[in-house]
Amino acid sequence: MSDAPGTFHGIGVSAGTAVGPLVLVAAAPTPPADEPATTDAAAAGAQVREVLEAVAAGLQARAAMADAHAKPILEAGAMMARDPGLVTGIDGHLASGAGITHAVSAAVEEYCALFESMGGYMAERVTDLRDVRDRAVARLLGQPEPGVPSLTVPSVLAAHDLAPAETATLTADTCLGIITAAGGPTSHTAILAAQLGIPAIVQAVGILDVPAGTVVAIDGGVGEITISPTEAEVALLTERKRRREAALAGGTGKGCTKDGAPIALLANIGTAEDARKAAAQPVEGVGLFRTEFLFLDRDTMPTVAEQTATYTEVFEAFGDRRIVVRTLDAGADKPLKFADLGPEENPALGRRGLRLGMVRTDILDAQLEALAAAYQATKADVRVMAPMVATQAEAMWFAQRVRALGLPKVGVMIEVPAAAIRSRGILYHVDFASLGTNDLQQYTMAADRMQGELAELLNPWEPALLDVIALACEGGQAMGKPIGVCGEAGGDPVLALVLAGLGVKSLSMAPGKVPAVRTALAAHTMETCQQMAAAARASITAAEAKAAVMAMAAPVLADLL
Ligand code: PEP
Ligand code: MG
Repeated sequence: MSDAPGTFHGIGVSAGTAVGPLVLVAAAPTPPADEPATTDAAAAGAQVREVLEAVAAGLQARAAMADAHAKPILEAGAMMARDPGLVTGIDGHLASGAGITHAVSAAVEEYCALFESMGGYMAERVTDLRDVRDRAVARLLGQPEPGVPSLTVPSVLAAHDLAPAETATLTADTCLGIITAAGGPTSHTAILAAQLGIPAIVQAVGILDVPAGTVVAIDGGVGEITISPTEAEVALLTERKRRREAALAGGTGKGCTKDGAPIALLANIGTAEDARKAAAQPVEGVGLFRTEFLFLDRDTMPTVAEQTATYTEVFEAFGDRRIVVRTLDAGADKPLKFADLGPEENPALGRRGLRLGMVRTDILDAQLEALAAAYQATKADVRVMAPMVATQAEAMWFAQRVRALGLPKVGVMIEVPAAAIRSRGILYHVDFASLGTNDLQQYTMAADRMQGELAELLNPWEPALLDVIALACEGGQAMGKPIGVCGEAGGDPVLALVLAGLGVKSLSMAPGKVPAVRTALAAHTMETCQQMAAAARASITAAEAKAAVMAMAAPVLADLL
């Protein structure tokens, strides 16, 4: 929503402030329907050759700067752009009169069909080939190449939305902030941005109309963007930052309420690099290791040895602190090439998470074997949990498999309402549960977490979600087994109070969010948290729930947002 001239509001999903020039991430172009037919095939062919060479050179230049993981992918793209077979195919279409961008598209699609028929490695190159097509078509249309450009100066990135693999390539030194026009508060752009400690705002409708290069100031805590800020506006932002830092300066100890009720503060991690960074922070361990983030753009399944090495590295980083590892949560919003069961009408309601693991037991068993080996090597406090568990039977099936390998503790994620409603029965089979509030909300509200337009239904203050969480916690209490939260709701310092009041025993979040949550908890007693939870649940709307809690909160909370 655009407000006063020069100011935009979106949803703040990763706190922090930044000022810098805007870099726009262009969308993939489509060949125009009214493109003129080709009359001079030789001239058009020469133009295509020039453009493909430029695309190849661009990819090669990026490969030279990329890490070991991205390098071969970019180099393969450059090779495809220079493939003489491709250009011959394009010549054929030009000769029969196709418009220039249509000729490129048609020839690339023929190549893709050929690659797909070969299967295996070649079939997996199809995405890269289409990326070359999009870059070439954009150049032919005089538009910027699509996708995240390499950032040579520190900038604020603006995109319609970003794919998880794209976000994962960003670093805080050159990417000062992320703004997306689409996306939701629990989209993976939001999660990865917080993970990387990059201030981020989603649902900033209209941001793509701001010209590239314009200086913008962003506050990822409150979701505010100021276009071409004045000195006074930058000073205001700096003051907000100072107040926030002052509020956070109090303490690094274990999480607990003002009257000493412990609430463990844990980190969400996705890679060994995240683990190293998080381990250096005052966190009590890891509450969610999203293992699929290790393999987002892998074409083939990692070997047991390779996985063991990574898990060992992560476990070692945390010494005797707990590490909750989630087995691969592939499918829907986190597609993995090597764990794909084919197209589905509704992937979020399909065979994802543990459901996929139950079909591809080879993938699950290899991962459990690697986790068991890393546990044996380190004797760390490892706890393994499954994503997307809906029934007792699933919980039991998973627990048996994990325990059979000698792994000491097994749990499940509660992210399907059925599991929350019947948490008692589910917990009978396992040692602990963790509320995946991102998915729990999506399924409670029947609102796709990837659809930014549904952001209102995806507000974690939604009283219906709080009711479902309360039900799950009642089951935990009855079974005497701990339930934590590892969805984005756990990193909101105000909502964290409500969750504590509902009976949650641990909160796991991007490490950068821990200090605000620690400060908020330390300023309120458990009794206040319980009263806040009751007030929030008694509300009718998400906004009323938050307002009711804010009215009961200590003044310091205003500085934490
Ligand atoms: C969740 O659903 O809340 C969760 C923590 O898992 P993910 O966001 O990775 O689906
Ligand atoms: Mg989930």
